[in-house]
Amino acid sequence: MKIGLFGGTFNPVHLGHLRAAEEIREQLGLGKIIFIPAHLPPHKKDAVIAARHRFEMARIAAADNPFFEVSDSELQREGNSYSFDTIQHFSRVYGPSAELFFIIGLDAFREIHTWKRYPELFSSCNFVVMSRPGRYAPEPEKNAPPDFSSLFSFNPDGPWYEHPSGRRIYFCRIRLLDISSTGVRQALHNGKSVKYLVPDAVAGYIYEHKLY
Ligand code: ATP
Ligand code: MG
Repeated sequence: MKIGLFGGTFNPVHLGHLRAAEEIREQLGLGKIIFIPAHLPPHKKDAVIAARHRFEMARIAAADNPFFEVSDSELQREGNSYSFDTIQHFSRVYGPSAELFFIIGLDAFREIHTWKRYPELFSSCNFVVMSRPGRYAPEPEKNAPPDFSSLFSFNPDGPWYEHPSGRRIYFCRIRLLDISSTGVRQALHNGKSVKYLVPDAVAGYIYEHKLY
């Protein structure tokens, strides 16, 4: 079984996340995608709303897709949420017969050398780096962390990049949707509509609980 792990702050989850997950699932033939809202995201300086609300919105958003699941595993752990620990957790849960793919956007990939247990992270599971609108080099691998080319070699048969551990990085081009949680929060602050940016049920949850 191939399983996608999709970590994020999801503050809130939006259609950019959902469409990206759906396209990656199809491109790589993943059996399911697990959305994993962070409890305490180590890289976000601004105040982030309570994890249980972000989790609940992700749950509502994923409910109508049989291939999507939402995990509270990072909510169960104390302290900062590190992807390294999350990958270890799911490796234990699914065992050696499962192939795990940790999914991140280009913006996150550019910063990955600041993550806990980098570069060991790359021998813990496969990674999928997806395109995202913004000022990025057109070739996704050009947005890699500084020592990327010494860690990975290109396998033209894939195409993917291969780590000495046998783990891979896939660079996937997906439909570019210029939607971000920051943009959604800004719209809400300004009293603007967020229809077609987030699922209607998520917008309903935001208004009901007076989030943002
Ligand atoms: P914020 O603006 O608060 O940073 P965000 O929209 O970037 O929010 P995150 O929860 O930070 O959402 O993102 C989780 C993951 O989803 C990251 O790896 C990010 O790169 C990816 N991602 C978010 N939005 C998109 C999008 N529109 N297209 C592709 N990837 C995305
Ligand atoms: Mg972000």
